Amino acid sequence: MGNNCPLCNLELREEEIFYEDPMFIVLRTRDLKGHRERIMIVAKEHIHSVDYVTYGVALQTAEEVGKIVFAYAPKFVIMDSTFATIKEHWHLVMTDLNPKSKDFDQILLTRWVKVVDNINGEMF
Ligand SMILES: [Zn+2]
Repeated sequence: MGNNCPLCNLELREEEIFYEDPMFIVLRTRDLKGHRERIMIVAKEHIHSVDYVTYGVALQTAEEVGKIVFAYAPKFVIMDSTFATIKEHWHLVMTDLNPKSKDFDQILLTRWVKVVDNINGEMF
């Protein structure tokens, strides 16, 4: 296991957990980077990648949980891990698209796995 891996060493009692199942956990990121919400779906195991089917399940979970967490926003994105500081432990970050956020430029440079529209979301 990754002893020095930040995602393996999360103190879950101190984190805001939005969803958990045997394979994945969805929680708020430590640094919100100026967003009202910024969350990630993390594999519970220290694995570098997931197979195609599992990836699909994870995306479905990310979308469903994201629709609740980002209910305030018109849309949110599930981002690719291109700029992730932790590359050895599978996770995807989800964020709203607040243009005043600290990482907005980086969000625009990142490949988006999926954009999810919220019918009811209006503003940040
Ligand atoms: Zn890990």
